[in-house]
Amino acid sequence: MSFKLENIRPTVIAGPCSAENRDQVFATAKELKKNKNIKYFRAGLWKPRTRPNSFEGVGSMGMVWLSEVQAELGIPVMTEIANAEHAELALKHGLDAVWIGARTTVSPFSVQNIADALKGTSMPVMVKNPMHADLGLWLGAIERFSSSTSGEVAALHRGFSNFTQQKYRNAPMWELPIGLKSELPDVSLFCDPSHICGNTELLGLVAQKAMDLGMDGLMLETHTLPEQALSDASQQITPSQLAELIDGLEIRSSLKDSTSDRDLSALRIQMDSIDEQLMELLSGRMDIAKQMGVFKKEEGLTVLHLERWREIVRTRMNWSKELGLSEEFILRVLEQVHKESIKVQTDVMNQDS
Ligand code: PEP
Ligand code: MN
Repeated sequence: MSFKLENIRPTVIAGPCSAENRDQVFATAKELKKNKNIKYFRAGLWKPRTRPNSFEGVGSMGMVWLSEVQAELGIPVMTEIANAEHAELALKHGLDAVWIGARTTVSPFSVQNIADALKGTSMPVMVKNPMHADLGLWLGAIERFSSSTSGEVAALHRGFSNFTQQKYRNAPMWELPIGLKSELPDVSLFCDPSHICGNTELLGLVAQKAMDLGMDGLMLETHTLPEQALSDASQQITPSQLAELIDGLEIRSSLKDSTSDRDLSALRIQMDSIDEQLMELLSGRMDIAKQMGVFKKEEGLTVLHLERWREIVRTRMNWSKELGLSEEFILRVLEQVHKESIKVQTDVMNQDS
């Protein structure tokens, strides 16, 4: 079975972050089945939670509900598998497809264990990008699955964790899926705006950008009562909000564009993404400057320390030289950034405490 719908774009994979109970799974799947863009119903059974004592999923019990949804509603179903035992359960219950989560893609050992469990089967696998921006790990996982299953292996872009990020839960860093597509042009590429955004406000914009980049489809977390969801409540939408989001997308045919237009827009998207990261980094730097201002005020220190400024210039000039950036340009950038940091710290000093 192919991940992509024929002649329809985008192909959508929708369903709750987690399967919570049989009624919720059936109610959501029934609603979603009405939408012609939706090819797969998704629901997580084993949830990789950052800290313990939050909802960790219903586990293998949910596998029964998922195979019932497949059989009774006739909608293909997929779930996340994170180890060989999950893979065996997915095979045993005849699930239509599986995906590999971002926390699993980072580990070649885990990926290989799961690939071995799927060896000789025709299970289709969708591979999410790793948590951090490492194209090699993403490509490597796709290669491991391609040589284990005869089913389709596709890529799923869900953004990258980034400690300076404020706007997104996971920075999209569009240059990475673009890099993946240029290495593996025949692999279907989907986008998961839900885990990129972490909220519902930006979903439409991120989904549109994925379409403008020529991606094949979208995975969107959908819940009948998002505010009551047991995981990822803030980023889930209802089936009718999902239908609206899909209707609102403008799908441009890449056939009509000339190749050079497409290349240019891919480069522009990469540039936008880098500028967005630059802004986030600058904002993070100013936050640190503010904290330094508070510290200096408390300790009765001056804002300007000439020795430190000289050291900043010396180290940064060396770093930038190694990166092939012009000295004159970097010095100008550093001066402006330093000026703004001094201003931020002076504002802190002048605040009444
Ligand atoms: C999910 O799809 O619910 C999930 C846990 O995703 P990710 O691996 O992208 O964090
Ligand atoms: Mn989720």
